Amino acid sequence: MIKEKTAAELKELDKKHFFHPTSAIKQQRESGPAFIFTEGKGIYLYDENGTKVIDGMSSLWNVNVGHGRKELGEVAMEQMSKLAFSSSFTSFSNEPAIRLAAKIAEIAPGDLNAVFFTSGGSESNDTAYKLARHYWVLKGQPQRRKIISRTRSYHGVNVGATSATGLKPFRDFTSSLAPDFYYVDHMSPDALRELIKQEGPDTIAAFISEPVQGAGGLHIAPETYFQEIRSICDEYGILFITDEVITGFGRTGTLFGIEHYGVVPDMMCFAKGVSSGYAPLGGVVFSQALYDELGELSTGTLLHGYTYSGHPMACAVALKNIEIIEREQLVENSKVRGAEMLSGFEQIKAAHSIVSEARGLGLMGGLEFHPQPGAEGPLAPLVLAEAAKRGLICRAVVLEGQDILVFSPPLIITKEELQELLSILNAAVNEVEQSLQK
Ligand code: PMP
Repeated sequence: MIKEKTAAELKELDKKHFFHPTSAIKQQRESGPAFIFTEGKGIYLYDENGTKVIDGMSSLWNVNVGHGRKELGEVAMEQMSKLAFSSSFTSFSNEPAIRLAAKIAEIAPGDLNAVFFTSGGSESNDTAYKLARHYWVLKGQPQRRKIISRTRSYHGVNVGATSATGLKPFRDFTSSLAPDFYYVDHMSPDALRELIKQEGPDTIAAFISEPVQGAGGLHIAPETYFQEIRSICDEYGILFITDEVITGFGRTGTLFGIEHYGVVPDMMCFAKGVSSGYAPLGGVVFSQALYDELGELSTGTLLHGYTYSGHPMACAVALKNIEIIEREQLVENSKVRGAEMLSGFEQIKAAHSIVSEARGLGLMGGLEFHPQPGAEGPLAPLVLAEAAKRGLICRAVVLEGQDILVFSPPLIITKEELQELLSILNAAVNEVEQSLQK
């Protein structure tokens, strides 16, 4: 809770000086922030007026262990007091980065064993594309430059990651993208095969995919999808990269989303849940085979690395965060609560004709709405506003004609808290459905 005068002052300063990411700039400058959050506890956030809301998105799909974990603050303070920063370039190293790399190698699927650290998801994606292309140069096949991704995919906002993003509005936002990116229908392995044949297999470096598409509208591929993708990539010698930035660290009810499909990629990008947002961190984990080959073929210096690759404090926080996920069995909770969340969504769908589909895998779920002939626009933003009034924040996806509300609550959510989330959502959907009938 902030004093009234201070809260008003903060709002004015925000409007004047704080250029918000992914915001409607004009509206933000006029109206200022909807919430100025001051505290977080468990699944709840508290704003400047003391208003309590359920963080139905784990903020940006990332606060997996929930808010207000003192343990993580203590680890950060301890590491910062001892060694806040030192570089990981060339042959310098530090203990938290070494231990975190080893931990990720231990828990990642199959032979994914060597970790390259970044500060977030976009950097991880650009790293994966760059190193995939570098690999082919070392292999004497520099013409293998093309990266294929899926429609409705989201991979971040750096130039490479924007170029790989299948959601066209993100690409249209800028006038200049990286070359050699191609897109295929997000649910069709045949489309991938066709494109490979059309472009020539020996021009393609890699295929990249989220195990479950998040920002693009929560799309879950059928059980056989990634098995087919893996075998197509193997057939044509193409590297298979998964983007586990959202789906990693328990979000879908398994530690990593690709585990649902029983295949192992050659590289896996991660971020968000690795540190539950308590420190900015991401990375790419490489298969042993790929890392060995890179080691054998490479002669000079790898000209790629971020100042904060292997940041000691961020890595120490991530290690403790993974310890919490394991100790509190949050992957299992994500699976059990996730099944309850999906069944709650199904019930909301059954009771409301405006809902067309309920989807979910672990604690990653979505509710899609039917197009409404009389309505002025999509319904998800209306439901979102009604939910916020009642104490639940979530996210609307209205890109490319979609009308979907998405959810990813913290993995610590209890049965009772989940019922609270569902009952607010039900009331919000009710309100919008009734207002349309007036
Ligand atoms: N990949 C995926 C699948 C994501 O969802 C996101 C962020 N939402 C990113 C990459 C980009 O991550 P960051 O915002 O940390 O750069």
